[in-house]
Amino acid sequence: MGAADVGVVLKVLEQVQLSDQEIALLQGVLANLVLPGHCLRLIEEAAGNRSCPACGGKRCHRCGQANGLQRYRCVACRRSFNALTGTPLARLRLRDRWLPYLQCLIDSVTVRKAATRVAVAKSTSFRWRHRFIAAVRQEPRPLLSGIVEADETYHLESQKGSRNLDRPPRKRGGKARRRGISAELDCILVARDRNRQTCDFVTGRGPVTAEQLARHLLPVLAVDVLLVSDAANTYKAFALQAGITHEAVNVRAGIRTRGAIHIQGVNGWHGRFKTWLRRFNGVASRYLANYTGWQRVLDAARLTAPAHWLQSAVAANR
Ligand SMILES: [Zn+2]
Repeated sequence: MGAADVGVVLKVLEQVQLSDQEIALLQGVLANLVLPGHCLRLIEEAAGNRSCPACGGKRCHRCGQANGLQRYRCVACRRSFNALTGTPLARLRLRDRWLPYLQCLIDSVTVRKAATRVAVAKSTSFRWRHRFIAAVRQEPRPLLSGIVEADETYHLESQKGSRNLDRPPRKRGGKARRRGISAELDCILVARDRNRQTCDFVTGRGPVTAEQLARHLLPVLAVDVLLVSDAANTYKAFALQAGITHEAVNVRAGIRTRGAIHIQGVNGWHGRFKTWLRRFNGVASRYLANYTGWQRVLDAARLTAPAHWLQSAVAANR
């Protein structure tokens, strides 16, 4: 590009009103031009000395490169692998656009807008969204301690994108046919401690059961927690069986707090999730856990830069 062409680009940039998000995106694109191998370096760094994804063998040697990534061969099983083998990111192409794409996830933009922003097909944008979220969702869950609030919220079951519905289609989308918590609703269980560490679980259709509470909550609760929930019997039964100290607030009777006994932390999370989810105009049940996982990452403001997200995604699957 000659000096005159650069002049044209600069003039255009001066004339258009760029939003903060668009400026951040441009910075990402420029950084990639300055450091073309940046994304690959971040991937190799995060993978560190990973062991063989097939057999877990620690001993391996280098055997050339493919698509910019170092290949290794396992001494024990002779299979070869790279930093991404066996992760949700394996075999995704166009790696030079990954970092700008991750900025789209951080900005919660729609599939279509993200596709335009980073110049990929809409189908690629959709696939990348779910792969990058699935990758960070596999990070180990935190151990919740102290006072832990637990409550569930419900999301109308949706078969968006499915060719074969297993029920008659709903007219105008949005309403369950029956009142109350029926099998038409997907249950999202959230537990959160007062240090704002949060665990979310999609437990399936219909009301949460004591057995599901045990399966999901027991692994993430420290031994000496105080569990706070609403007055639903399920929580009482679960806590009794698991030997966990439990307090309930009778939210239905209009009692929202008793001193430190409340579930406002978890209900706040639910509220932010539902508000945030609206921009996507309905999400399919089979992807719901990806959306709660995405919200978890954003809500905790943990991965605030594309490089953080990429490295967590690789490291979580080591
Ligand atoms: Zn091996």
